[in-house]
Amino acid sequence: MPDIVIADPCLVVLIGAAGAGKSTFAARHFAADEILSSDRFRAIVSGDEADQGATRAAFGRLDRELWRRLRAGQLTVVDATSIEPGARRSLVVRAEATGVPAVAIILDLPADVVLARNAARRPRVVDEAVVRRQLGRLRIALDGPTPPIGRDGFATVVVLRDPAEVEVVTIGRRPP
Ligand code: ATP
Ligand code: MG
Repeated sequence: MPDIVIADPCLVVLIGAAGAGKSTFAARHFAADEILSSDRFRAIVSGDEADQGATRAAFGRLDRELWRRLRAGQLTVVDATSIEPGARRSLVVRAEATGVPAVAIILDLPADVVLARNAARRPRVVDEAVVRRQLGRLRIALDGPTPPIGRDGFATVVVLRDPAEVEVVTIGRRPP
């Protein structure tokens, strides 16, 4: 029995700070065409996956593709930080509108692990202050008084806290 069982189709929302390992996790568990990555859409619209100025256009493209896939009944993974409640909410709304469950997979790894991974990353290192802010926002989303992730409307919320667990976790699929 896999550790995480998700309906197929569904919308998987990966949540975690820059460097937490979302893209690595996505590549390990999902087919390339199932993954909509904000960085990849930044690269498509501007030629640079780190170009923050391309964020709006990139998310516009991602959103169009997300609607298309969900309407077509295709399992879709959104690989973006999704740290902000509004970002999560708009994804859940799209899942609800197309009648598929939304599954949150949260990479809530220790801050020192995330910061070290980000710092060691080449060629793209995200500013440490940005990562620390994301880690703080994630703490509030998980533990704080304002909309905890559990109440965002996700059908399933999986929180992975231990890097060792991330290495061994398995994901299975079941019919809707
Ligand atoms: P971003 O939000 O900036 O796209 P991310 O969450 O997608 O970040 P990744 O690019 O997957 O993060 O990983 C960041 C760095 O951490 C990479 O150098 C990657 O090789 C390393 N890393 C990711 N997952 C693991 C893991 N399970 N074990 C060891 N290193 C990892
Ligand atoms: Mg990534």
